[in-house]
Amino acid sequence: MAKDYYEMLGVSKTSTPEEIKKSYRKLAIQYHPDKNPGNKESEEKFKEISQAYEVLSDTKKRATYDQFGHDAFTRSGRGGASSGGGFGGFHDPYDIFSQVFGSSSVFEEFFGGGGGRGQRRSASAAQDGADLRYDLEIDFEEAVYGADKKISFARLQSCLNCNGTGSSPGSGKTTCKRCGGTGFTTTSHSFISMRQTCPSCRGAGQIIEKPCPKCRGEGRVRAEKNIQIHIPPGVDTGSRLRVAGEGEGGANGGSAGDLYVVIHVRSHEVFQRDGLDIMCEVPIDFATAALGGIVEVPTVSGKTKLKIPEGTQSGTILRIREKGIPSLHGGRRGDQHIKIFVEVPAKLSKSQREKLEEFAKLEREKNNHPMISSFMEKAKRFLKGE
Ligand SMILES: [Zn+2]
Ligand SMILES: [Zn+2]
Repeated sequence: MAKDYYEMLGVSKTSTPEEIKKSYRKLAIQYHPDKNPGNKESEEKFKEISQAYEVLSDTKKRATYDQFGHDAFTRSGRGGASSGGGFGGFHDPYDIFSQVFGSSSVFEEFFGGGGGRGQRRSASAAQDGADLRYDLEIDFEEAVYGADKKISFARLQSCLNCNGTGSSPGSGKTTCKRCGGTGFTTTSHSFISMRQTCPSCRGAGQIIEKPCPKCRGEGRVRAEKNIQIHIPPGVDTGSRLRVAGEGEGGANGGSAGDLYVVIHVRSHEVFQRDGLDIMCEVPIDFATAALGGIVEVPTVSGKTKLKIPEGTQSGTILRIREKGIPSLHGGRRGDQHIKIFVEVPAKLSKSQREKLEEFAKLEREKNNHPMISSFMEKAKRFLKGE
């Protein structure tokens, strides 16, 4: 036999919509299945008050209910509406609950985590460890050739003494009496209910009988960790190396997070990097530039001889094949590019000066400076216009 909707919500036939809403809110929190896990009676009660609220919160439905009573509403949508009603079946009580409590964030405020029914935070659930980031600075050459590096850092890791359970070996856990295992307590001041983390179990829902002395019941301890990591050849600033399982340890059997090593390559005195290529600026004297010759240049794998062709200009780029950076993903290694810079002697000796003056005289007779000639032509054309 159906009960009276007004009675179910603890309100009277003359109650205002606001009073009805307040009363529903209070009862809905009290009987919500998330707060009463496994309690069939509560769940039934929760559905009932949701139906009662659905009818009494709607002016039209409430009027119909006042006039015709329960007969105006059917419980299932199967047979359609019964006499005088036409409202069909009831809505999902959880939807009504969500509507009244507004956004899911309000919902979370009351029930914690997840924000949905059935997603109750289990107190002793496994907790996975967080991923960690380690910023590692390496030398230019180490980025080219790879390296094995030892790194050390502090992290939370599973307590070995209790296997991450927080309980002293041999002792167990009991359900927290204060919150009944839910991990939180609800206090009501008139119509406002506040959910708080249970102060007895600090939200765990269980009380550890004998906390592990090593981790004080936390299941994890902060410890210094040393690991060796292999840096593959070809990494660059911003490369991320994932070291599986070396992040923070999990609690209660949760899995460990990963460690991400972020690479920062120190700049080099002689080399700059451009993708897989290495750039290097090399000054040569102007006699070698004019006559051609062999100069020694540095590469990441030692010095090598480079042929300077006769008549090499400043800014010329010469290439040494496959002396660049190896590709991380396999394939051809980069090149080294040598940018030539012609250095004019800073100071001349007397005999050098005499010889150079002689040279200059010969130069004027023989026009062999195509760049100068071409520039003079253009300049002449431009100045004619003035
Ligand atoms: Zn508790
Ligand atoms: Zn422990």
